[in-house]
Amino acid sequence: MSDLYKCNFLPLISKLRVDLEKWNNLHITVTGRINCIKMNILPRFLYLFQCLPVFLPNSFFRQIDTLFSSFIWKRKPPRIRKGLLQRQTSVGGLALPNLKYYYWAANLHKISFLIHEQALNWCTMEIKSCSMSLVSMLTSKMPMRFSQSSSNLVVISTLRIWSQFCSFFKFNELSHYNPIYNNHTFPPSLDPAFLHWKSQGLAKLNDLYIDNVFASFDELSQKYSLPKNHLFRYFQIRNFVKSNTMSFPFISPCTIVDELFEKSFRQKGALSKIYCLITNIKSECMEKIKKQWEAELGKQLSEVDWKRALSQINGTTSCCKLNLIQFKTVHRIYFTNSRLSKMYLNVKDECNRCHMSPANMTHMFWSCPHLKNYWAIIFNHLARALEITLTPSEDAAIFGTFFNRNWESYTNCERNTIAFSTLIARRRILLEWKSTNAPKASHWYKDLLLFLDLEKIKYDLRGQPSQFDTTWGAMINYTKTLKTL
Ligand SMILES: [Zn+2]
Repeated sequence: MSDLYKCNFLPLISKLRVDLEKWNNLHITVTGRINCIKMNILPRFLYLFQCLPVFLPNSFFRQIDTLFSSFIWKRKPPRIRKGLLQRQTSVGGLALPNLKYYYWAANLHKISFLIHEQALNWCTMEIKSCSMSLVSMLTSKMPMRFSQSSSNLVVISTLRIWSQFCSFFKFNELSHYNPIYNNHTFPPSLDPAFLHWKSQGLAKLNDLYIDNVFASFDELSQKYSLPKNHLFRYFQIRNFVKSNTMSFPFISPCTIVDELFEKSFRQKGALSKIYCLITNIKSECMEKIKKQWEAELGKQLSEVDWKRALSQINGTTSCCKLNLIQFKTVHRIYFTNSRLSKMYLNVKDECNRCHMSPANMTHMFWSCPHLKNYWAIIFNHLARALEITLTPSEDAAIFGTFFNRNWESYTNCERNTIAFSTLIARRRILLEWKSTNAPKASHWYKDLLLFLDLEKIKYDLRGQPSQFDTTWGAMINYTKTLKTL
């Protein structure tokens, strides 16, 4: 088994070092670098993860993470937490692959076959190699020693990976799917009475609960037609559950372990589904960033509002550079004077344009008095182009969406136009970040036309020219009526 690691993973890491070194000098944005990892490096590792049941220690993944971080940030210290980059694109992340999660997903996928497809030849072979029930081992309390549990090294390796996964997420409790019959942690389980229970459909701990409460013997015997003389067996299993479950007599909360045992993951894209399930268990918390925005804006953002702001990050355009701008804005990555003043004594917390304090994110993008005219012109043009009433608002100016209003009442075309046009406006502010003058709306207008040309090319290349006209028709027609701003 150790040769498998030496012959496959070590050469891959050496090759990865060479490749990243070579690509490091290329002019690629952070998003581009993440996409390189996603499209080029991930499949190489995933292939090995799926084919080789080799136990990989945490140090292996730490080594890869260091290589990735050095590549993404061009050998400089990271500016965004890895966890934020790893969040899914649908929730405002950049979907940087988490190799450790992919490794677990590949192995969990295999385990789901061992649970649901036991008739397959390789599954039968692996299950038979075990000295005790495989399902019982997988659903028991962790940690557990597996070295003597099977004569097959592949199975031992799979079980070690399972244990590594469970201990990382602290899944130490008994699973709902722990079997009642043939359970190595419950010695009386080999009694024929429990085999009878199994044949009646009372096979796992989950079945012992009715309406989420541990059922009485009468209830169970009624539901599963159990004979009266099985009462003693009932007491045995109840005592076993009671002494091993914290929440007894109530059912413990469902975990991914239970989900894995419940569903079969045979369909296409199963590995990605398991990966998503794993990322959802422990995704990087955005609460601190949300609170900072709430403090600056002086209002509460509801979960729906915040979700909308996050989904807008990658939902406005397919242009990586523009998406990155929105990602950095919402994640407050940009260095405002307010932030710099906390780092350097010689920097004053005041706006370069109006000399007011604090020059925080909200001030720089919205509340600076010098930006009032800029935003007023932009919102006025948007309202006239879309023929709707539109009041300038910080929500659209910063997040490209409206909070606490009926955003859904706008058509898709109106929403896209507002989100995209304000994003171009934010880009213009960033281009003149340190300037003492406010950006000009005429520059925004030029930028918008330029980026619309690029969008049109993208739609044409995708073979959807009519979709471009549907989305941007109103704006394009409006620009034709204007000679200059
Ligand atoms: Zn200002």
